[in-house]
Amino acid sequence: MKIAIQGAGVVGPTLAFWLLRGGHEVTLIEQAPYFRAGGYVIDFWGLGYTIAERMGLIEAVRAHGYQVEEVRLVNERGARVGGFSADVFGRMTKGRFTSLPRGDLARIIFDAVQDKVETRFGDSVAAISDASDGVDVTLESGATRRFDLLVGADGLHSRVRSLLWGAQTAFERPMGFYVAAFRASGYPRRDENVYLSYAEPGRSIARFSMRNDETLFLFIFAAARLPGAEPHDDAGRKAALKAIFGASGWEAREILEALESADTELYFDRVSQIEVLHWSLGRTVLLGDAAACVSLLAGEGTGLGMTEAYVLAGELQRAAGDIPAALKAYEARLRPFLLKKQASARALASSFAPATGFGIWVRQAVTRLMVFPPVADFFMGRSLRDDFDLPDYEGR
Ligand SMILES: Cc1cc2nc3c(=O)[nH]c(=O)nc-3n(C[C@H](O)[C@H](O)[C@H](O)COP(=O)(O)OP(=O)(O)OC[C@H]3O[C@@H](n4cnc5c(N)ncnc54)[C@H](O)[C@@H]3O)c2cc1C
Repeated sequence: MKIAIQGAGVVGPTLAFWLLRGGHEVTLIEQAPYFRAGGYVIDFWGLGYTIAERMGLIEAVRAHGYQVEEVRLVNERGARVGGFSADVFGRMTKGRFTSLPRGDLARIIFDAVQDKVETRFGDSVAAISDASDGVDVTLESGATRRFDLLVGADGLHSRVRSLLWGAQTAFERPMGFYVAAFRASGYPRRDENVYLSYAEPGRSIARFSMRNDETLFLFIFAAARLPGAEPHDDAGRKAALKAIFGASGWEAREILEALESADTELYFDRVSQIEVLHWSLGRTVLLGDAAACVSLLAGEGTGLGMTEAYVLAGELQRAAGDIPAALKAYEARLRPFLLKKQASARALASSFAPATGFGIWVRQAVTRLMVFPPVADFFMGRSLRDDFDLPDYEGR
């Protein structure tokens, strides 16, 4: 089949990988003029880890990964006030766990497919028209193409979804926070293999030291702190971060300076979930964040999106050309599981970026208890477990 995938994030190229293995012809359509390698460090385990193994990419993933030793919560002077040993992750996953920049993971997967697919950077689907024997796609560049299937893997603000399903507001559940992330070189303070995080009511900053003298930074803040309307360009976003964090303690001032001079992409978005009643319409199907974004709060959106890609490709293979049957099976297998993941992520929302000093204190106290392995295993075990049996489409 000829299959178009809109979105070359992590999930679109993962689907491309599995479709190529099934002998399909793939076109990737990516709005950005280049491959986007931004984002903060992600924890990678469970379903995503298994899929990367099945793709033969786990060695590369581990080579780019970091074995985090400690999650450290600090106060305004940088002194440790909470946190826990990251041993719990290795213990609960039997060592099948690593942490790596989202952009490195995306790059590893894209590199595995880029020579074998047609990639249209700087383009986007402008109109979709379903016919009985194909889906006609008009691109912004003006071209019109017919495909057997169109996949919207274009993220939280999916254009494919808005074109066919309707306006974003009908499907988006904002969680009340924003997230921003960037990468900079030469940041003078380094703590190898430690996630460092500093919180004030309704906002937090984190940093993670990487190889080659690079550092990743993450800001999280309550939507109510945004000084004006949501900014849509880099200048506006940087100004908003300055307004929100300019008077914060710890290394806020230095980190904002690093942001000012960084020449890498600033990722900046709402923390939201997406809930769409039916993931496919005719010959168009949604995947990853476009279909069922679990949000940053779930901590595993990338792995879950990769799972959706693997299952969609597998069901297309199994259905041997019966597209409606494949799309139905894909959704039936995954939707209940994703809905549960979303519900547990929502339950964590208030502890994620506590709104009060007391909330921050409670969080610090709880993480201090995690010095005891059984307590750590209890708290982390639930969020590390995936109640989903990954189908085996390759008859291994
Ligand atoms: C640069 C970047 C940085 C990120 N950083 C973080 C982070 O720090 N923390 C976090 O929790 N999540 C982050 N995310 C989101 C995270 O990658 C996803 O939640 C998760 O990996 C699921 O991925 P996805 O492929 O479904 O969506 P995404 O990773 O969002 O990928 C969607 C892709 O579609 C492209 N796209 C969007 N609209 C169009 C359009 N109209 N036409 C064509 N292409 C389009 C985007 O440019 C992007 O490449 C980031 C996403 C990106 C793109």
